[in-house]
Amino acid sequence: MKAVRLEAVGDISVRDVEVPEPGPDDLLVQVEACGICGTDRHLLHGEFPSAPPVTLGHEFCGIVVKVGSAVHGIKPGTRVTGDPNISCGRCPQCQAGRVNLCRNLRAIGIHRDGGFAEYVLVPQRQAFEIPLGLDPVHGAFCEPLACCLHGIDMAGIRAGSTVVVLGGGVIGLLTVQLARLAGATTVILSTRQASKRRLAEELGATATVDPAAGDIVEAIAGLSGLVPDGVDVAIECAGVSETVKQSTRLAKAGGTVVILGVLPRGEKVEIEPFDILFRELRVQGSFINPFVHRRAADLVASGAIEIDRLISRRVTLDEAPGIIANPALPGEIKVLVIPSS
Ligand code: NAP
Ligand code: ZN
Repeated sequence: MKAVRLEAVGDISVRDVEVPEPGPDDLLVQVEACGICGTDRHLLHGEFPSAPPVTLGHEFCGIVVKVGSAVHGIKPGTRVTGDPNISCGRCPQCQAGRVNLCRNLRAIGIHRDGGFAEYVLVPQRQAFEIPLGLDPVHGAFCEPLACCLHGIDMAGIRAGSTVVVLGGGVIGLLTVQLARLAGATTVILSTRQASKRRLAEELGATATVDPAAGDIVEAIAGLSGLVPDGVDVAIECAGVSETVKQSTRLAKAGGTVVILGVLPRGEKVEIEPFDILFRELRVQGSFINPFVHRRAADLVASGAIEIDRLISRRVTLDEAPGIIANPALPGEIKVLVIPSS
């Protein structure tokens, strides 16, 4: 079968590999769709550790075609979405229920073969059934949506909350939608590209701001800003130091800052501890998707999240290495690999 292989840092190509045989607890899944994520670019460039040679792709869904001898309760023909993050279940963090902080965390598409292939092996406990009636590309959004859902849970958004989301990529645009679903009545998105600001307003943002046009802290939290004195929750979804800095200025006294965006390791941001103390800010990281994949899959299946408008293009396995090796095109939100195309 064809697979997009990371042979070594900087070396990605489509290769012919054997269709894997399921171990006792595995499902063999024929991949219908797998999303390209910024992390795939980081893996290629060695900015995020992986275990090459490995097939990339961690945002996948597909049809179960074969099951291992110890698998119960799931049959060939079922459509599943995969939670790629496999925790060990034995380390102190796992034993305390913090599986996303597992010290032995391994991910499908990072440390073991993933979904940019015709078939992928998925341990049964990482597979979540989704309806056959669903557009399969929607199934590929369960993983990024689950990460946003964890961020929203961490944020403690309630009915009437005021929220700022910084960064209008797929994570920011899903987070805007989840914030509205969670009950926020004011959701402001800051992002530089006008097309993304327009889309965010159509997806439920109550206002958008252009960080290139002036000081967004003043425009949002200033005396005559959109939410004078600041918002209940600021969610950083851009992964740049500027927006991390802005987030601590945008949250009101007693408010919460959630860091969803990934900054390069070693990058520093200047913040004022006095400000965090004096205004009792809660600064909370949100890492991957502990125990939320089922909810994310149900949300996708419910149709409550607009997904089609986040899909920029659908490509073949052969096209994937070139796309991963280059930066995202302007305006591009999510590219889906369709192995059967
Ligand atoms: P992305 O497509 O790169 O989106 C980030 C967006 O931020 C860009 O599209 C850009 O849009 C915007 N941006 C850049 N500089 C900005 C600025 N100064 N002010 C406002 N917006 C700015 O990436 P993504 O897939 O949405 O992911 C977002 C971040 O979340 C990444 O860092 C990713 O690694 C991280 N992530 C974290 C988790 C987790 O578990 N915590 C899971 C998945 C992803 P404009 O050009 O319009 O400004
Ligand atoms: Zn563990």
